[in-house]
Amino acid sequence: MTIASVDTTIQLISSGSIDGATCAPELVDGPWLFDSAPPSYGPGASQDDPIPAFAPKQGELPEEYRTASKEELAERIRAAKATLGDRVAVMGHFYQRDEVVQFADFVGDSFQLANFAKARPEAETIVFCGVHFMAETADIVSRPEQNVILPNLAAGCSMADMADLDSVQECWEALEELYGTEPDADGRVPVIPVTYMNSSAALKAFCGEHGGIVCTSSNAATVLQWAFERGQRVLFFPDQHLGRNTAKAMGVPVERMPLWNPRKPLGGNDEASLGEAQVILWHGFCSVHKRFTVGQIEHARAEFPGVRVIVHPECPMEVVDAADEYGSTDYIVKAIQAAPAGSTFAIGTEINLVQRLAAEYPQHTIFCLDSVVCPCSTMYRIHPGYLAWVLEGLVRGEVVNQVRVADEVAVPARVALERMLAARPDTTMAA
Ligand code: SF4
Repeated sequence: MTIASVDTTIQLISSGSIDGATCAPELVDGPWLFDSAPPSYGPGASQDDPIPAFAPKQGELPEEYRTASKEELAERIRAAKATLGDRVAVMGHFYQRDEVVQFADFVGDSFQLANFAKARPEAETIVFCGVHFMAETADIVSRPEQNVILPNLAAGCSMADMADLDSVQECWEALEELYGTEPDADGRVPVIPVTYMNSSAALKAFCGEHGGIVCTSSNAATVLQWAFERGQRVLFFPDQHLGRNTAKAMGVPVERMPLWNPRKPLGGNDEASLGEAQVILWHGFCSVHKRFTVGQIEHARAEFPGVRVIVHPECPMEVVDAADEYGSTDYIVKAIQAAPAGSTFAIGTEINLVQRLAAEYPQHTIFCLDSVVCPCSTMYRIHPGYLAWVLEGLVRGEVVNQVRVADEVAVPARVALERMLAARPDTTMAA
């Protein structure tokens, strides 16, 4: 199977050579085309999501970085990194474009990368090639003297932006009115807030202050178990799909997982359904993973009998149910690494990771379930031009695009993260 680059595929889609209208050439040509008004997440899977007023904005990238060729930018990035040496560590998320990942000192998921930042205490600056909440997490867990830079401040996450502190606080007050604040006879409080790593530092801090915890897509079941031991029910935000898929696999009936829509009174629920609730799911989703369908799985199985279908738990429940397996990006990478040569995989996650795995493991056939390429357009905003700009700034002694979480937020956010690290799987549940 020939693997076209993600850029080439986007260009084919936008020129009409491949059916599908989710991508536009600006994503390849230069994200600075949509950095300014009207603010948006940019073309691609997230283009229909409204961007909140509080989302950070990116100033104009100097022209020399917008007009430089790919080759020139690569040379300038290489030279700046060589000059900076150990003073800088570049982190590249799994979903980041290859032209940027090639310069990363570490590649991984958001929490692996935040921890890599801790593993490089000698680095004065962490350049985080991911999205805004990831840079915030790196700032929270890194040493206070270390600076964290996000090369394009407009690289947000549409899912993380679907839950903001004000809406979560309003929801919390409504739940307190309904359930009260007193623990039951077993000492379990009425509600434990659980936030996915893909959320603002403010929401991690909210969890730290309200007896709650953070989870990743790798440890969501362990964290939910932790929460059920301490609370009668869980408020899970912002990703409804990760919450629903994980709780369902733990035996929570879907009818006991009402959805909380922050724009409706009582989240769009009645008191009776909230009274029965075990997990209250926030109305958030990832626009990239929401595109995967059961039809795509059926198509892959018809075309490749024996194919192993693995999807990410941010996919809708019916897609996870139809797949052979589901798991975090780390799970997907390890499953491919461990498979016997000649295996065929259909993967339901972001295209840059799938294409890279296909190139790294030519002994397997690996393809994305979605034939109409669908990169994370917010992640894609870290064009090499921005990376060259921030690195050359560092060479001149200028720190641009620093992401700094204030102490009053970072301290309680760290509490919620530390609870996550201390949570252990309940081995009495193992068969
Ligand atoms: S893939 Fe989805 S959840 Fe991940 S950064 Fe992009 S929009 Fe956010």
